[in-house]
Amino acid sequence: MMQVFKFGGASVKDAEAVKNISEILKQHAAMPTIVVVSAMGKITNKLEELVNAYFYKEGNTNTILNDIKSFHIHIIQQLFINPNDAIYGEVENVFTEIAWGLEDELTQNYNFHYDQIVSQGEVLATKIISAYLNTIHLKNTWVDIRGIIQTDNTYREGKVNYELSETLVNTQLLPLFTNTKLVVTQGFIGGTSENYCTTLGREGSDYTAALLAYFTNATHVTIWKDVAGVLNADPKYFKNTKKIDELTYHDAIELTYYGASVIHPKTIKPLQNKNIPLYVKSFIKPSESGTVINNSENRSSITTYIFKVNQLLLSIQPKDFSFIAEENLSAIFSLFNKYNVHANITQNSAISFSVCVDYDVHKITPLIAELQLQFKVLYNTNVELMTVRNYNPDIIKQLTQDKIVIIEQRSRNTLQMVLSQAE
Ligand code: ASP
Ligand code: MG
Repeated sequence: MMQVFKFGGASVKDAEAVKNISEILKQHAAMPTIVVVSAMGKITNKLEELVNAYFYKEGNTNTILNDIKSFHIHIIQQLFINPNDAIYGEVENVFTEIAWGLEDELTQNYNFHYDQIVSQGEVLATKIISAYLNTIHLKNTWVDIRGIIQTDNTYREGKVNYELSETLVNTQLLPLFTNTKLVVTQGFIGGTSENYCTTLGREGSDYTAALLAYFTNATHVTIWKDVAGVLNADPKYFKNTKKIDELTYHDAIELTYYGASVIHPKTIKPLQNKNIPLYVKSFIKPSESGTVINNSENRSSITTYIFKVNQLLLSIQPKDFSFIAEENLSAIFSLFNKYNVHANITQNSAISFSVCVDYDVHKITPLIAELQLQFKVLYNTNVELMTVRNYNPDIIKQLTQDKIVIIEQRSRNTLQMVLSQAE
């Protein structure tokens, strides 16, 4: 019997938050538990800034590194009263390692450097949390997941070697439970056969938790969040959101695939394969029921909204007189693949291919440059992508008020629209 808990950045954003999750663990950790933790607060974004300062010379690496360091030191000062506690030295060591990394010679590979540096956010968080839990007598073992979740060297989007990782779980991770009930480890990161760090894609800690649950045949996974569960829309953009009590794996896969950010899209499949239920619960109100995702037959009929801002709509046209057909499409998609850009929605006509993508400048700029060698590329930065599940005409009318609908696609349950503001 094993359970897997995942705590994201918001649940460990400061000393108070760390104390709060330790209360949750006290109440639930009668069962053997693997605790998967993300970087604290918004540290991953800060580490991304650090990589950009180093690689693109966008900003001062020292200032950013110092900010990251003071953030962590401030937290440990509140959690560990003894100034000689070993944690101070351990955290110092991680920062020394990051600083050394910043002196490494730059390769051409941004993604490689990104992973070596950004992965340290999870290392810091788990070291601090594991040490704190030990001081309050929640005895636990800290595990470096980079020796267990093995990936190829697709940096920033590591592809997990399932067989090898499963073997390592069985030989390295599970035996620890003869001496401990609690393991604290990192989400989001993995290691290659050459001992480099990889990351599994932003917000990938959920995926780590699902993989560990799959490999250990866990009874369930709980993702602890700052919301009550899976809501029918992102409260950042919508008022009056509703919590969904129960979702099928299938519904959850669809929601996350279309961009509902509550759970990482890769999380559900491994759990579905072994029929492991996933609970999404509030770390603020841990006794409330949250949402359960399982193999129930009841598809949710509640209207759900998934809203993606910061979208770029590309319109790609052959420079010669050819039509948009298989040959051109295959050239276009292979460039998308090369730059690791995901097509959120596509539509083609005879002479133009339209595609909506997340606007990540560092990926999009080289993609457009290379597309332009073969195609005429037009783009529109001011668009949003809206996906509505279980839609009805009233809802569509409401959503498109004051908006221009640039692309619209419907299936029986799902409506997708690319919208821009009416002038
Ligand atoms: N810390 C990583 C991120 O912010 C991974 C995660 O939160 O799941 O993307
Ligand atoms: Mg996060």
